[in-house]
Amino acid sequence: MNDMSFDGRALINGERVAAQDGQSFDCISPVDGKTIATIARCGSADIDRAVRAARAAFEDQRWCGLAPAQRKRVMIRFADLLLENADALALTETLDMGKPVKYARAVDVNSAANCLRWYGEAVDKVYDEIAPTGKQALALITREPVGVVGVIVPWNYPMIMAAWKIAPALAAGNSVVLKPSEKSPLTALKLADLALEAGIPAGVFNVVPGFGPEAGSPLALHMDVDCIAFTGSTRVGKQIHVMAGQSNLKRAWTELGGKSPNIVFADCPNLDKAVEAAVGSIFFNQGQSCNAPSRLYVEASIKDQFLEKALKLVPQYKPANPLHKDTVMGALVDKVQMETVLRYIESGKSQGAALIAGGEQVMAESGGCYVAPTIFDGVTAGMTIAREEIFGPVLSVLSFTDAADVVKQANDSVYGLQAGLWTRDINRAHGIARALKAGTVHVNQYDEDDITVPFGGFKQSGVGRDKSLHAFDKYSEIKTTWIRIDSPV
Ligand code: NAD
Repeated sequence: MNDMSFDGRALINGERVAAQDGQSFDCISPVDGKTIATIARCGSADIDRAVRAARAAFEDQRWCGLAPAQRKRVMIRFADLLLENADALALTETLDMGKPVKYARAVDVNSAANCLRWYGEAVDKVYDEIAPTGKQALALITREPVGVVGVIVPWNYPMIMAAWKIAPALAAGNSVVLKPSEKSPLTALKLADLALEAGIPAGVFNVVPGFGPEAGSPLALHMDVDCIAFTGSTRVGKQIHVMAGQSNLKRAWTELGGKSPNIVFADCPNLDKAVEAAVGSIFFNQGQSCNAPSRLYVEASIKDQFLEKALKLVPQYKPANPLHKDTVMGALVDKVQMETVLRYIESGKSQGAALIAGGEQVMAESGGCYVAPTIFDGVTAGMTIAREEIFGPVLSVLSFTDAADVVKQANDSVYGLQAGLWTRDINRAHGIARALKAGTVHVNQYDEDDITVPFGGFKQSGVGRDKSLHAFDKYSEIKTTWIRIDSPV
């Protein structure tokens, strides 16, 4: 099925290079457990080399010094190249991290390309400002690139997570050093090849694959990196802020974990849609989405009806080989993640939740990492599966009778990434949307998404926002220039 070969070397200063100490690691596909590539195992020497290349590119202004219209053209060409290579990129993503190829093509490639295009288009459309300071002086408020941006991303949406950061960082004129996840490094390397082909000058966009402590930490600690943009777990995100503070106080932006609540009132406008969204959103990407609505609160009077409908949908999500064009539920990213998810399932059972669907590994004979779509009913607030991010296809169902109480429960989490709310009552919708401590609240849907809207979390779900023009703030310094006007006229 797969006759692709992959170049797993780093891309530094426009060239593919092995790790300086010659170390490498195997890239194992969760589709069938086979090794599909050998990846450079970069360490601090490689990070240093990439940062020096990025710094040189920034200082001689080979990218940020180009006319905005020229940078825009290059970024749009970069986006076009993603689409021209869409099938190969989608197949690579599927082999590398197990998501269904139809979604890799329709969602991941398209979203990443759209993100690059959108920020490319913005390059020559975002204006600087003049402050209203009066006639005797002029205060110009201008944005300047931060300099060298380090980017560290997770494995769940490798291309999209990278694009959300590199697109605004490059559009703002920075140089970038990207460290992809060791679990899914292949498409990031391909993106760097395409960036070069599009005309992004050598040294401006570098990709250094490797493990977190070996390659990620040296990047976060590097004294010549001006900003670190991280997406990943809350545990590592906290370390990123410490490393930023310990080193040169680089700007640190983090998009972290979630345990998003989804609240369905008995007066929800369309129960079938609410059920489809609840089930579809937790099982999409095998449950490995930071914003997955993994805590479902259903008003007690409709819970039985809701679950009856939900159980009818579960067979649609039967795991299958993600390389097949019709598969909607593929493999988890690797054995470690699969075992973590299975441990959470065991904890749900042992703490007294009622397993009503799934709950086990499937397709073991394939050699891959597949878990059946799983639903627990009778979950209570103190259970581990109601509190911790599982990052797998596991839905925890709780019920409620009182609106104020369910809001309190929904907010009783260290996370605050997203939340869902289903009701016909417009007053209740507005009131609860305000009361929920989440970066995004979905009302009567859970799947709207657009590059124009900010994405990020309250509380321990992170600091800063990806997407939209707000993302430029992460990758720009704001400078004020005062000019006295001593004009005789
Ligand atoms: P992770 O934190 O284990 O790893 C993320 C990245 O950090 C990887 O590239 C990893 O190599 C690197 N890393 C690990 N240890 C490091 C260290 N000590 N120093 C520097 N870098 C280090 O997370 P993961 O398992 O890859 O991804 C899953 C997590 O990502 C989940 O918690 C999920 O919610 C979160 N996530 C959040 C968003 C969002 O936008 N909020 C989006 C996607 C995923």
